[in-house]
Amino acid sequence: MSDGAIRHVVVVGGGTAGWMAAAMLSSRLPRERTRVTLVESAEIGTVGVGEATIPPILDLNRLLGIDEDELIRRTHGTYKLGIEFRDWGAIGQRYFHPFGSYGADIGGVAFHHHWLRLREGELADYSLPTVAAEAGRFAHPAQDPRDVRSKLAYALHFDASLYAAFLGERAIADGTERVEGRIVAVERDGASGDVTRLRLADGRAIDGDLFLDCSGFRGLLIEEALGTGYEDWSRWLPMDRAIAVPTERIAPPVPFTRSTAGAAGWRWRIPLQHRTGNGHVYCSRFLDDDTAERQLLDALDAPALAAPRRLRFTTGRRRRAWNHNVVALGLASGFIEPLESTSIHLVQQGVQTLMSLFPRGAIEPAEVAQYNRLMQRDYEQVRDFVILHYKQTARDDTPFWRMAAAMAVPDTLAERMALFAANGRIVPEPGELFTPTSWAAVMLGQGLSPRGYDGQADLYPEETMGAQLRRMADLVRRGAAALPTHADYLAQPQRASG
Ligand SMILES: Cc1cc2nc3c(=O)[nH]c(=O)nc-3n(C[C@H](O)[C@H](O)[C@H](O)COP(=O)(O)OP(=O)(O)OC[C@H]3O[C@@H](n4cnc5c(N)ncnc54)[C@H](O)[C@@H]3O)c2cc1C
Repeated sequence: MSDGAIRHVVVVGGGTAGWMAAAMLSSRLPRERTRVTLVESAEIGTVGVGEATIPPILDLNRLLGIDEDELIRRTHGTYKLGIEFRDWGAIGQRYFHPFGSYGADIGGVAFHHHWLRLREGELADYSLPTVAAEAGRFAHPAQDPRDVRSKLAYALHFDASLYAAFLGERAIADGTERVEGRIVAVERDGASGDVTRLRLADGRAIDGDLFLDCSGFRGLLIEEALGTGYEDWSRWLPMDRAIAVPTERIAPPVPFTRSTAGAAGWRWRIPLQHRTGNGHVYCSRFLDDDTAERQLLDALDAPALAAPRRLRFTTGRRRRAWNHNVVALGLASGFIEPLESTSIHLVQQGVQTLMSLFPRGAIEPAEVAQYNRLMQRDYEQVRDFVILHYKQTARDDTPFWRMAAAMAVPDTLAERMALFAANGRIVPEPGELFTPTSWAAVMLGQGLSPRGYDGQADLYPEETMGAQLRRMADLVRRGAAALPTHADYLAQPQRASG
């Protein structure tokens, strides 16, 4: 290739990351200019987990023209209003991290400050997604801002392999060529160091101009070929093992993910229409694999449908997500553990950021640097939010929790916690994924209670504010009670949004 233009993009890996990338690229790049090939190996397989998402997935669906009803049906999906956390801040305590927002801001002052001032009921009483989730109810958000249902926000749960297959069909229909085969060698240009060719076990060769490494934890191109390096975050995010096991569905699926903290980790429960996904994420320094598996199996509420599957990982991120002509996406670019269901989102973010900086001709170093800056920022913001769940706890019942509560955290997080502890202030960073609602939910839920609140809340008379808050909570309560049950909603053949 003489002019350096990207005529052929090769996606390495057919897990969720690979097919998300292929679906996006093949729908957005003019076929006559750039073709897309995806290589995957059934022999190696995919990680096969990753079933809970966060609301930005809906943007991806819109961008790809995916019909949500069809997606739900094909992947046996369910709706998600947030995450229930049990035994995190203290044993026996629970809280809900909802999508959407609490109450409504009054006089330009964030709602939670008014609540901190009056402490009228619980903050959760002002979140429609929380109250609806707890009642097992769901509907799509209303478009009319005067309707309390406009306060709903949601994401999806789905079967990970069916999701990849669903995207695969779309990508192939849009022109992606799928190649089945095991890559055994990666060839590089002697002068530039760029990757030029993949060699498959059967002798075939695949040449490309830009390679997307979606090969999973190993990072076949980004690490094994290019030696990019990995920033290890296990001093803050010490989880390094997981065991996953699906169970029969014995009750109507709830519209939320559940996370229950244990002795040295936590267990997930993800309700799908045809089964429930369960898993135990833990730290091997404090818990051995057999005990972790027993704890998971003992906690199951229904018969297992398959043998438990063990996974290993190191939390952290690839030092450069884009190196030479290789862009790493998904597990190849890093992993912050699944506590806040952020991995699929980071794939989406990686693909969308790549599209926004996609080379017009030859790869521009300035655009590569910008990509790496943006992805580093996204990973670090998610990292801090997840660390908060471990750091801010009153649990001291096991060596693991004593270690977590005592650990030093990144300055960026320490500053946020101090800011909130003083007067409940939350200042979003540019481009931040997690909203002030998310930060407030988790900080308060984990037991970080501010000493004060924004003084501007005092501008309003206590009695009128109290009455206003009670009216809001009542509206939320009645709004939630009027929603259909999640199970009934799923059973409707046409679930119109809005
Ligand atoms: C325990 C756990 C729970 C998780 N839960 C969630 C969650 O709830 N929500 C969420 O958003 N994310 C979650 N994730 C993350 C999510 O699973 C991943 O981000 C997502 O599945 C993407 O994986 P991937 O496509 O990068 O890798 P993989 O699924 O590992 O796919 C790698 C692909 O590369 C191919 N490949 C590898 N080597 C070769 C080779 N030599 N030749 C040819 N092909 C090759 C494989 O065949 C495969 O197709 C979780 C992860 C773990 C570990």
